[in-house]
Amino acid sequence: MNAINELAPTGIGSEWSPQWMLSPEQLALQAELIAVCQSTMRPNAIDSDKNYVYPRKNFEALAAMGLLGLTVPKELGGRGESHLCAAMVVETIARYGCPSTAMCYTMHLGACAAALLRHHGNERLKAILSRVDADVLIGTLSFSDPETGSHFWYPMSSRAERTENGWKVFKKASWTTSGGFADWYIIQTTSPDFGGNYSDLSCFLVTKDQIQADPANWDGLGMRGNQSGPISVDGVDIAPDALVGPVGDGAKSNDEVVDPFFLVCSSACWNGISLAAMDITKNHTTRKVHNDVGMRVADYPTIQDYVGECLIDTNASRSYVYLAAKALDDQTGGCDWSGHADLAYLPRTGLLNWLWQVKFFSSKNVSNVVDKMLHACGGTGYKPALGIERLLRDGKAGWVMGPTNEVLRQFVGKSALLGFEVLDYWNQSVNQRVLNNELKKMSKSEKAAFASKLLEDAQA
Ligand SMILES: Cc1cc2nc3c(=O)[nH]c(=O)nc-3n(C[C@H](O)[C@H](O)[C@H](O)COP(=O)(O)OP(=O)(O)OC[C@H]3O[C@@H](n4cnc5c(N)ncnc54)[C@H](O)[C@@H]3O)c2cc1C
Repeated sequence: MNAINELAPTGIGSEWSPQWMLSPEQLALQAELIAVCQSTMRPNAIDSDKNYVYPRKNFEALAAMGLLGLTVPKELGGRGESHLCAAMVVETIARYGCPSTAMCYTMHLGACAAALLRHHGNERLKAILSRVDADVLIGTLSFSDPETGSHFWYPMSSRAERTENGWKVFKKASWTTSGGFADWYIIQTTSPDFGGNYSDLSCFLVTKDQIQADPANWDGLGMRGNQSGPISVDGVDIAPDALVGPVGDGAKSNDEVVDPFFLVCSSACWNGISLAAMDITKNHTTRKVHNDVGMRVADYPTIQDYVGECLIDTNASRSYVYLAAKALDDQTGGCDWSGHADLAYLPRTGLLNWLWQVKFFSSKNVSNVVDKMLHACGGTGYKPALGIERLLRDGKAGWVMGPTNEVLRQFVGKSALLGFEVLDYWNQSVNQRVLNNELKKMSKSEKAAFASKLLEDAQA
């Protein structure tokens, strides 16, 4: 079966895709998904972009294929699929269907992963996970905080309290994909009794009726179907088992599932957008003829170079994503959740530094590819009708989504040079070198004044 060439004959052929990475079942799923993308999702993508329509219809199509439960174990009614398969599905949706849907689906998979990590013995989580397809229950992750920007691991304006009947949760999120449209939300707050230690985080499950959102105000350069506006949870009382995992499990959940799933799947989304832009470019440039010279646009070596370089870079990025996804599969027995009954089993965490690199690379690449494909298609590409313009706007979200590429290259460079312990996510360790250097600049009287201020602070 050669689904890419048969179903999408005008795009870049399957001989340029690492199809050998996929099992026969995954190849069949890819073929089925390309057909659904072309019949349903792509027309909806245009409507979502033009009219800011949330892609619920696309989610209904995904649910009909059993894809909302892609990574849910078979005993809970899911497909029990792997990280590699998740990357393929997201890439395929972004390439042939709708990038906004691919991003909403990425967040859904992240929310499923956070729930699956701690579903053992939690009937509330199991009930949702086992109904995601049948009832089209869309999940999402709500982390980013208005006070800390893209440092989504630092929820300064959110908190939780212990009550007699469970928990009272206060959440302010500056961005939440599917905000107001998702049926269930994994949110992160400081733990009850966190005592000022912002690394002490907890995750909670809240449902649509417990959040406040104003989707009518959502606006963005691209990813317009995403509806990634602010949401809030305003002192809502929730049941004891709406706590996801134990109190204080938030940082572990981030490193073990939330980041890994977001980084791999969003990277697959950026690669899918890059490929979609090249598909459109092939289609356009092989048809458009310049009659003065009797050549098609695709006959110019300059255009061939654009596509050649972008395809080489994009396939490097895809190889990186598939390698990382395969490594996650190898570490987890193909994304088997049963081992997590032991709370200390955290096999993905040790691969996080690889996943940072994957996200940096894929989102940097898509930004370049959409620019170059716009150049290759000329003025026609500048008009919305061709489709490159929408992909260009959608692809630009990659660089700025947290962890942003500025932050990621810092993480990588800093930890490669100085070790992971210097990363200091929660602003807790003192940089003695900077401190000593600043002190050196002070006069004797400034030092004395500073010392007495410090003494006062310490005594207080
Ligand atoms: C389409 C879209 C969907 C999103 N969906 C979600 C979602 O579902 N859930 C969610 O929780 N969030 C979501 N986000 C939010 C996203 O993850 C970021 O939190 C958000 O983009 C940050 O925007 P900001 O203006 O606060 O950026 P800032 O954090 O203010 O960044 C401004 C600049 O400062 C840089 N910067 C920040 N920190 C550092 C540093 N330490 N070193 C160097 N430079 C730094 C940044 O890289 C950037 O260049 C989404 C964002 C987008 C665009």
